Amino acid sequence: MSGWSHRHVLDLAAFSRDDYATVLELAHRFRSMPVTGARKLPALQGRLVATLFFEPSTRTRSSFELAAKRLSADVQSFSPSSSSLSKGESLLDTARTYVAMGADVLVIRHRCTDVPAQLAHELDQAGERTVVLNGGDGQHSHPSQGLLDLYTLAHHFDPHRPQPEALQGKRIGIVGDVLHSRVARSNLWALSACGADVVLCGPPSLVPDAFADFLHAPPPGQTVDPVPQRGRLQISRNLDECLSGADAVMTLRLQKERMTDHLLTDLDRYHRDYGLSHERLRRCAFSGPVLHPGPVNRGVEMSGALLDDRSICLVEDQVRNGIPIRMALLYLMAASDPVADSPRPPAPS
Ligand code: ASP
Repeated sequence: MSGWSHRHVLDLAAFSRDDYATVLELAHRFRSMPVTGARKLPALQGRLVATLFFEPSTRTRSSFELAAKRLSADVQSFSPSSSSLSKGESLLDTARTYVAMGADVLVIRHRCTDVPAQLAHELDQAGERTVVLNGGDGQHSHPSQGLLDLYTLAHHFDPHRPQPEALQGKRIGIVGDVLHSRVARSNLWALSACGADVVLCGPPSLVPDAFADFLHAPPPGQTVDPVPQRGRLQISRNLDECLSGADAVMTLRLQKERMTDHLLTDLDRYHRDYGLSHERLRRCAFSGPVLHPGPVNRGVEMSGALLDDRSICLVEDQVRNGIPIRMALLYLMAASDPVADSPRPPAPS
């Protein structure tokens, strides 16, 4: 794909607006193709995609594996509990094992920030062709989730042309545990790059004031921001105010596994202050969609009734859109491999 310059995909902070447009356009084409069951696209025939998830995952891992299979790649998956990791093998040696087996792409999830980037660096130093796709590292980054959320929103606002422009000038609320969320950080880069204004909403313990400076250029690892003009970022402590002016809202799971202090003791109070429900949306005259990356704590981030209301809650669309978005990423990464044959491009829809 011309213009695509990312060997590894580690952090959306490195993405330009054209990069978002490329991924969204390709994902939209894949989404409209009948590629379930036996009908697969031959694009990644002969390639090996290995999913190395050192942290639990339901959606991301299955969706990467389905995406790889729909492009005819071979798929190998790794589970820490049944691997030699439990015999003391290092993460790098584990990854090298998959490289030695011929993996073209490693999709990595780890609880520590920057593990995928360190691995990518090691592979580059060693002159390996294998590329790394970050499947979520600590609190830092979750690029494929940020992209599928972007696609879901763009598709909601403009189903015929789900491109970055669909987000221009929109106001998107992100509610809850922003502090521990790699999803929130990836969404901040993606949404602001497409011209959306983002309002982060939650108590100071979960949305510290310092987040107001998050988008100040240049992003980490870049000398200049690849996006010349981003949307604005604001912080709100009041969910009703946040909802009143918003075009869409995403709420986040309380990430108890990452909370080192007792940041929240009373979940009923949290739901009262920051939980979403039909009643609250009505009161705030909010008529946009509700998103959540999952897994959802019913009755905490949102009521069970709202989660089940598909006319408002786009959680299932997010899951569905994850497959074409990950197909697009795998396709682009394979296409940028200078040694292997380029995958056959998908036909326009
Ligand atoms: N599934 C997302 C992640 O891996 C969100 C979450 O776990 O709350 O970051």
